[in-house]
Amino acid sequence: MADQPVMLIVDDIEMNRVVLSQFFQDDYHIEMAENGREAWEMILHTPVQIVLLDLVMPVMDGYALLTQLKQDERTAGIPVIVMTGNSERDSEAQAMEMGAADFITKPYNPTVVRYRVRNVMARQENEWRKLEQAAQGRQLQQVNRDVELDQLTGLYNREAFYRRASRLMQERADTSYMIIYLDVSCFKVINDLFRMETGNLILQTAAYYFKASVGDKGVVGRLEADHFALCVPQDAVQMESFMAGLDSTLSSLGISHHIVFYAGIYPVEDVFLPIDQMCDRARMALDRVRGSYIERYGYYDKSMREQMLEEQMLVRDMEFGLQDRQFCIFPQPVYDLKTNEIVGAEALVRWQHPASGLVSPGKFIPLFERNGFIVRLDRFVWEEACRLLQEMKDSLGHAVPISVNVSRLNFYNEGLEAYLMGLLDHYQLEPQLLKLEITESAYTDNPRQLQHTIESLQARGFRILMDDFGRGYSSLNMLKNLPVDSLKIDMGFVSDIEKRGRASIIMESVVRLAQRLGMDTVVEGVETQAEIDFLEEIGCRHIQGYYYAKPMDTDAFLQLYSGSARPVQR
Ligand code: C2E
Ligand code: CA
Ligand code: CA
Repeated sequence: MADQPVMLIVDDIEMNRVVLSQFFQDDYHIEMAENGREAWEMILHTPVQIVLLDLVMPVMDGYALLTQLKQDERTAGIPVIVMTGNSERDSEAQAMEMGAADFITKPYNPTVVRYRVRNVMARQENEWRKLEQAAQGRQLQQVNRDVELDQLTGLYNREAFYRRASRLMQERADTSYMIIYLDVSCFKVINDLFRMETGNLILQTAAYYFKASVGDKGVVGRLEADHFALCVPQDAVQMESFMAGLDSTLSSLGISHHIVFYAGIYPVEDVFLPIDQMCDRARMALDRVRGSYIERYGYYDKSMREQMLEEQMLVRDMEFGLQDRQFCIFPQPVYDLKTNEIVGAEALVRWQHPASGLVSPGKFIPLFERNGFIVRLDRFVWEEACRLLQEMKDSLGHAVPISVNVSRLNFYNEGLEAYLMGLLDHYQLEPQLLKLEITESAYTDNPRQLQHTIESLQARGFRILMDDFGRGYSSLNMLKNLPVDSLKIDMGFVSDIEKRGRASIIMESVVRLAQRLGMDTVVEGVETQAEIDFLEEIGCRHIQGYYYAKPMDTDAFLQLYSGSARPVQR
């Protein structure tokens, strides 16, 4: 069909080309090439929407073609999926770094291959849409674009900075450059506390300082809001005095709030790395020090790159993982320390990743919170918890409540209540059986809406737990305003010595307070007999921790529960 997208398959082995074209011939117009050079010729003359590229080929191999594609602005936007042998994780990583959108491994699994291509195309369409919108936005700011300057600070805007910085580095290849990425800590707070003019004054003053420090040796840009980037020769700026100078310049403004800039530095090794990736690396270095009291700037290092690659892979695999049921729940029982019976459980997510094995949530939850995937993963977990509840009821005739984590993105989602009601209805469960854990940090986003959501869920019969109480914000104000049913206190935050000192007094008081406010308490992270004795003394009964049991698969949990459901002798 004429309007089908064009897929170019580049592989020197005919068999491979034929197999792949079989997978896609219904949806794509297929072109084929035997090596990089042939492919390059073809791409220059035919509009191609996606390239499947073998890495090892004679004449011109996949790496060379990939480099050429990404360096030419006519072709840089075409997504490329590379094809690798089974044990070539290094080459996969290298290709991803060179700009490949994804990779597929031989021998081809038709489902995976189709899925990857669909994923990449969906992402690409998003990109195109964003570019289109950006183009429309740019038309509106025609004047601005012509002069390349940000109106507020007089610095280069993002596009101009990117263009000029990469040109500078490529022209002066004998000089070693670095990218410094800077932003203000809690700029939003400053804007809230003061008038907008104050915020603007800070940005203008910082911009002035950056320009003065760099002079004509480098390029300075304001990328967005309070984010700045500098491209300077490595020996032109000495970080310690640069940051000190910035501080004293800003303090001369006499603003009653301490303004703190953090900086991340990427010393450029390869001037042909796309400039946005250089900035990303500097920004990763910044993320490491952000919020620190001691370090105000930090350098990019290899471990960040590895972390990023690992994160990229997890993001790439998450969709398929969810479809493929690679995620599952590991319930961790909650015990009553007086009766030694299981009185509940928390459903904790695990990812059985085909290549990396059992991945724990610490690795992927923060990532999925940033990219929004957590909304769907959470819902999957809730459903698994419902299925477990149903199984308990069916096989044993009774069940204990299971609590699930509700990330803040979900809590602020309007469809939450309807979704939960739908689930309960489908599995024929009472709302008391599915407890909802929210973390106290969600409170700072929008206390009023949070309160409203909690009350409305409670009216439906749900029980709400405040997770990780004591970890962050925890103010008495929050306790007063948020009508949660239980507090979950983490024993792990109290060190051994403290347990005997002030911390134990605080813990005891919190437990009393909760009881007087009509709330339950659950203490998690309990590992030792001494802790159990202490908790028993202060009147805490509900315990979740390794002392009793670690999170376990659902079969093990069901077995344990069916044994414990009978009263246990103490
Ligand atoms: P959390 O909600 O505070 O869960 C308790 C964590 O403490 C679990 O780690 C659990 O395995 C661990 N733990 C339990 N007892 C002990 C103990 O005695 N000693 C020690 N050292 N640790 C103990 P896990 O499973 O790795 O989960 C980490 C975090 O990931 C959770 O912290 C939660 O914030 C998040 N998470 C897990 N599953 C989900 C989910 O389905 N959705 C969302 N949004 N977050 C989840
Ligand atoms: Ca939790
Ligand atoms: Ca917790």
